[in-house]
Amino acid sequence: MKLLIRNALIVTMNEQNDVIEKGSIVIDGNRLAYVGPAEWTPPGPFDQTIDADRMIAMPGMINSHCHSPANLVRGMMPSKPLEIWRAYYRASLRDMRDEDFYASALLGGMEMLKSGATTVLDHFAGNASCRFMGAGAAIQAMRDLGLRHVAALTVTDKNYEDTIPLGETAAELNAEIKRMSASEAKSAQAWLDECEAFIETFHAPEKLTTACPGPSAVQRCSDELLKGCAEIARRRSLPMHIHLAETKAQQVQGDKIYGHSLLQHLDSLGIVGTNLSCAHSIWIEDSDVELFAKCGSTPVHNPASNLRIGSGLARVKEFLAAGVNVALGTDGSASNDGQNMFDALRLVALIHNQAGTDFNQWVTPAQALAMATRNGARAFGLDGVLGPGKLADLVLLRRDTPAFTPLNDVMGQLVFCENGSSVDTVIVNGEIVVKEGRLAKIDEQEALQFAAHARERLDPSIQRELAAAKSIEPALAEMYFRVFEKQPR
Ligand SMILES: [Zn+2]
Repeated sequence: MKLLIRNALIVTMNEQNDVIEKGSIVIDGNRLAYVGPAEWTPPGPFDQTIDADRMIAMPGMINSHCHSPANLVRGMMPSKPLEIWRAYYRASLRDMRDEDFYASALLGGMEMLKSGATTVLDHFAGNASCRFMGAGAAIQAMRDLGLRHVAALTVTDKNYEDTIPLGETAAELNAEIKRMSASEAKSAQAWLDECEAFIETFHAPEKLTTACPGPSAVQRCSDELLKGCAEIARRRSLPMHIHLAETKAQQVQGDKIYGHSLLQHLDSLGIVGTNLSCAHSIWIEDSDVELFAKCGSTPVHNPASNLRIGSGLARVKEFLAAGVNVALGTDGSASNDGQNMFDALRLVALIHNQAGTDFNQWVTPAQALAMATRNGARAFGLDGVLGPGKLADLVLLRRDTPAFTPLNDVMGQLVFCENGSSVDTVIVNGEIVVKEGRLAKIDEQEALQFAAHARERLDPSIQRELAAAKSIEPALAEMYFRVFEKQPR
């Protein structure tokens, strides 16, 4: 299949951030054969031609951190600190089955594609009653949509109550916390075996799937498990993904367990490197910024989630100044309420502009777009750039919309003005998966109905488990105020 896109305004997102005013793109199979000025377009024949003289072409965005099971509970989680929020969110997962994980991933994937993301990292944690916790169903949904995905299987071999700095809690509360976390932990070896089997079963780049290990968080895993996951990733040349220092409570617990920062602990185990991406990376030490720059690992910034559950402001400006490869994500819909990468783009370009800070370091549109494209790609061994030989993952946006009228500064308008509604065509791996703003491979109404039915059927268990989560909130709230040395008012 040979496809010509002609006369587009092309935002290449190459290292020079080149913009081609009137350019053509030739797709041959799943790769870009030509990206350049329209007048130099190589001769056909082409199987299909898209006239794009009223379009902007950009690389498909890469959502570098999310949790696909969270899409059924958007809008309903309390705005409370992560440790409390997590108790409520985990409650919603307890009775999900494969069909629910499928429906939830379909819903999130549909939103991502229609708003210009072509790749997602799904840090997948479901529940123990399903094979691979339900990750296979999520992978199937993303394949059905035509969304490229990095499925990182979330593993943990510690009991949750041992991974947070809980104080003296009443015995019945501890029992409840234990019950809620009981299904998550397995032995390190059992998880490593499962990781290998998961990758053997699902890793298939030609089917859009990269399968890899995703240790839940540094303090939630034994050294044996962390090293084992890193060894699997290295041996198989795969990425590895982990949560890092999302909250102050995690930093406090890390200090208690290791005597230094969580990133330094990963470094001491010899598992930092360019294939490692670390969601959040907020509560880190000054020297960790340099360590990120030196080892080439990628912090993944999730601005909406950080705001929604008050995790803190990631040190994005310092990362950028030090040359760190920062990527961008939405995080799950339980702490973001949506999966729209244009929302993340706009937020990352706004929230770091704090009064009294050096405005020369505030995030520029080009930096925001790099985070959403080539930086994420680098962490996962993909491209995220429009150029010859690169993967054919791209988005065409209409220019005849309020966001781009008048057209003043295409990169500034992509970041500050667009919300995803100008997306017309999305191509993944050379295949058109969104056409005229609608999904090409599945029925959108049917996908929405799947999700609504799944949520309805899960309601009794969600209500029951939310009530249980509420019962442990006082112990978690005590911990929150203690680590910040504050009193509730
Ligand atoms: Zn997360």
